[in-house]
Amino acid sequence: MWSLFKEIIYTPYSVVKGLIVTFVHLFRPKVTLQYPDERVELPENYRGVPSLPVDPKTGTDRCIACGACARICPEQVLTVTSEIGEDKKRKLQEFTIDASRCMWCGLCVEVCPTDALVMSKVYELATDSREGMVFNREDMHRHGGMFPEEPEPEPETSEEQQADNSKEGAQEQS
Ligand code: SF4
Ligand code: SF4
Repeated sequence: MWSLFKEIIYTPYSVVKGLIVTFVHLFRPKVTLQYPDERVELPENYRGVPSLPVDPKTGTDRCIACGACARICPEQVLTVTSEIGEDKKRKLQEFTIDASRCMWCGLCVEVCPTDALVMSKVYELATDSREGMVFNREDMHRHGGMFPEEPEPEPETSEEQQADNSKEGAQEQS
């Protein structure tokens, strides 16, 4: 009898309480987005899958195949293969990352001497196989996009021009 009485009291109470919560949230700012049409703005230091952006000057990445990233990777998920070119310089042959085992620590990016490797902002990596998480050099270019264009350096002024400029400055002062 007592439990029936409790139910009669608490059922309308819980319904009204739920409606009040819903009503209050009608006037609060929305925290959800209509994904995938809307995307959350990622912070500047967001760590997505490591990538190799393309340098607009050369049309390829800045990797010199030194292998420092592969050596430091605690998960050993990076593979760098190289060859010696006709100019006797080491050239990158292939670069792969097994993103399924990457822990996004960023050590590979920190040791890269040419800043070729960067943590991308890519996070949509869902796939139905482990092989789908292994990315080659081309995939890493796609994830990294392009480095921003650097402005052309200002032409250096010759010593004669500098002397002329200082003379003009001295004349203006007098
Ligand atoms: S982020 Fe860390 S775990 Fe991932 S590839 Fe780089 S060094 Fe390895
Ligand atoms: S550390 Fe940088 S330059 Fe060296 S192999 Fe890795 S990505 Fe290439």
